[in-house]
Amino acid sequence: MTRLPDPRPRPPEGSALIDTYGRIAQDLRVSLTDRCSFRCTYCMPAEGLPWIPQPQMLSDDELMRLIGVFIGAGVTQVRLTGGEPLLRRSIVELVAGIAALRPRPAIAMTTNGAALAAVAAPLAAAGLDRVNVSLDTIDASQFLALTRRDRLADVIAGLAAAADAGLTPVKVNAVAMRGVNDAVVADLLAWCLARGYELRFIEQMPLDAQHGWDRSVMVTAEEIKAGLEARFELTPVESTDRGSAPAARFLVDGGPATVGIIASVSEPFCSACDRVRLTADGQVRNCLFSERETDLRGPLRDGASDAELLGLIRGEMWRKGPAHGIGRPDFHQPDRPMSAIGG
Ligand code: SAM
Ligand code: SF4
Repeated sequence: MTRLPDPRPRPPEGSALIDTYGRIAQDLRVSLTDRCSFRCTYCMPAEGLPWIPQPQMLSDDELMRLIGVFIGAGVTQVRLTGGEPLLRRSIVELVAGIAALRPRPAIAMTTNGAALAAVAAPLAAAGLDRVNVSLDTIDASQFLALTRRDRLADVIAGLAAAADAGLTPVKVNAVAMRGVNDAVVADLLAWCLARGYELRFIEQMPLDAQHGWDRSVMVTAEEIKAGLEARFELTPVESTDRGSAPAARFLVDGGPATVGIIASVSEPFCSACDRVRLTADGQVRNCLFSERETDLRGPLRDGASDAELLGLIRGEMWRKGPAHGIGRPDFHQPDRPMSAIGG
């Protein structure tokens, strides 16, 4: 990856969220809460985590103000995530508020789906465009082992409600865990195909709060592909403009259905990354794996102007490194777990 010539200590004048490698962030991921109704083994421990104290959480008004600043800086998509975004009581109002911003961004959500059935239609009516539901297996005992919650039926109902509400194509995100669901990746694909859901696998990343990730047991993208090919014919979708989309996509049995595999660890897509993250306590992060972040909450509460907040965000993006560096000897897992960053 080439660095822009003569990197300056500050970004050039303008509003775009550019970094020193020329990448421009347009995809804002907003964590609405670090709390969650599940305890996925690859994400957090059974007992949960010390949650962000309430006074440090951004209010709805604060969130909306900051999202507006990001939109003014060229963000074109807002993805609501967490923790579990549906635990935020004002979720429908927040979506409606974001949909009223101009230029209106595309609005997406990543959810565990457990509470989706009741709110899919109101969310769609409020302006939600797309939803990704995380579902790693359709086997009830594997689901319980992975999420530590007996909620498979609720997630399945949530997916159906999302499709009924027109949040299509409904996407399913799955992580394959060795010895749990790695032998049944093709079953999950068959299940998704039968319902018209678009499945994407992602390699497990070192972002769990308990620091239990071990590359030697991580199920690789290659293995996931081999598991799918045991039952399906996969043809790579030739794409010259994959752009910032991280998933390698394959036609399944000649198409039109596709499956995606995101090799976030074994084949990182950092050089095309267009993401920026806002945490529920008002920190902006230029990368999931960043070891530092920039506080927006303090300045916001101290009366900073939009221009000042934008300057802080642009400064954070300007510091974005070339790649996450998993596997390098000097790699450190960030202190903030995935659930508190926003996946
Ligand atoms: N709770 C919501 C959910 O599960 O969809 C949103 C937050 S969750 C952190 C976002 C996504 O990150 C989920 O699809 C989840 O499977 C994924 N995820 C969590 N921990 C991960 C890890 N260590 N490696 C890869 N993906 C992970
Ligand atoms: Fe909760 Fe999502 Fe983490 Fe699972 S992956 S524990 S659903 S935040």
